[in-house]
Amino acid sequence: MAEYSALALLKNAFSGNTDWKPAWRKAEPKPRYDVIIVGGGGHGLSTAYYLAKEHGITNVAVLERGYLGSGNVGRNTVTVRSNYMLPESIRFYEHSMKLWENLSHDLNYNVMFSQRGVLNLGHSPAQMDEFAKRGNTMRHLGADAELMDSAAIKRLIPAIDDSRSARFPIVGGLMQRRAGTARHDAVAWGYARGADRRGVDIVENCEVNGFIREGDRIVGVTTSRGEIRAAKVGVAVAGSTGHVMRMAGVDRLPIESHVLQAFVTESLKPFLDTVITFGMGHFYINQSDKGGLVYGGDIDGYNSYAQRGNLPIVEDVMSEMVTLFPSLAPVRMLRSWGGVCDMSMDGAPIIDIGPLPGMYLNCGWCYGGFKATPASGFCFAHTIARDEPHAFNAPFRLDRFHRGTVIDDKGQGATPRLH
Ligand SMILES: Cc1cc2nc3c(=O)[nH]c(=O)nc-3n(C[C@H](O)[C@H](O)[C@H](O)COP(=O)(O)OP(=O)(O)OC[C@H]3O[C@@H](n4cnc5c(N)ncnc54)[C@H](O)[C@@H]3O)c2cc1C
Repeated sequence: MAEYSALALLKNAFSGNTDWKPAWRKAEPKPRYDVIIVGGGGHGLSTAYYLAKEHGITNVAVLERGYLGSGNVGRNTVTVRSNYMLPESIRFYEHSMKLWENLSHDLNYNVMFSQRGVLNLGHSPAQMDEFAKRGNTMRHLGADAELMDSAAIKRLIPAIDDSRSARFPIVGGLMQRRAGTARHDAVAWGYARGADRRGVDIVENCEVNGFIREGDRIVGVTTSRGEIRAAKVGVAVAGSTGHVMRMAGVDRLPIESHVLQAFVTESLKPFLDTVITFGMGHFYINQSDKGGLVYGGDIDGYNSYAQRGNLPIVEDVMSEMVTLFPSLAPVRMLRSWGGVCDMSMDGAPIIDIGPLPGMYLNCGWCYGGFKATPASGFCFAHTIARDEPHAFNAPFRLDRFHRGTVIDDKGQGATPRLH
């Protein structure tokens, strides 16, 4: 588009950026909307975007208690993949992958989607059998998957410890080449700008502190900036789901909040051009475009709403990194942080109508919801607009826990082994 041309960039540089416009308006809340989305994370913003784009519903407010990107959308380690085992998950995450592949064009905003591949390492013949089964299922359902042997892995990642004497020798791996990373802040900003341009009000510093009810029905919210009413209220608050839903009187959900930590090192020369996951220890790593290694491990083993973690996980994660890459031992860690994850009991998300009339729920993303951002918003918008789930989220309803049809994709839930 003309406004982002090289000439426009040059003009802005010499004018002190005086005609740069904010990416979204600082909207004041109106007393009433057709739809309110509680939570301005990736999922809330993408839902608002697709409500406007796909369904023409633009009288929408996204209410965010802090600033955009203050939650997990700005705290994650940016892995995007669709390498699941169960058909319901593969279909949903593969739909997300297809949206990712066109997202920068769709939003006219560079989300820096980089299909650098995600490689799950295998450490035993039994694990490789399981990878072969998973890869076949993925390919059968239209995703890409490729088995690699240890020699091919060593060629791809020369620094990896492939010795037979390693505690968990590398036997092979399952590679998804279309998987990779995206720039998390850009995803939040791109969706925010896209929604704003279609008329959605994005209201920051607006904490929802209660729900307005008429009988059983939710008809609005009370906030730190006053009462706001709406025909439909969607909740997409990730790690705060238990807390927010309790305000509506829903105090039993199959969700626990846990902290997940992430780490980044000083910048190194290009060293790793794919994402690796190490399932035997629960560790994953990629190298950012700035050169820092971005990595993480397991969740902290207790419930918490605090966005910070504890030292035992730090020690655990560092030892796993050095196990895989002994040459990284002298590298300095620059920063670490934590985010609160909404861990569902089967590891799969919930995108549904209810549980109260007038309300819609989007949660249970565990530590894997960044990759779901496009499909989650797309499906949640459909569910809110049409009062019925889309085919992609029909299996992810809340009542699956009553019906016993949980979607237990090994390694995704509260007892994780793969990232
Ligand atoms: C360290 C870490 C690493 C991760 N790595 C990956 C990864 O590599 N790949 C991947 O796919 N996923 C990853 N995840 C998970 C992913 O980040 C989350 O599942 C996803 O971001 C959650 O959805 P969201 O973006 O909408 O959440 P959030 O960004 O947390 O959005 C929820 C918003 O709701 C707001 N809110 C809460 N309460 C209220 C209230 N009362 N009123 C108004 N607003 C409220 C919060 O302020 C927040 O902004 C990771 C998570 C963490 C913490």
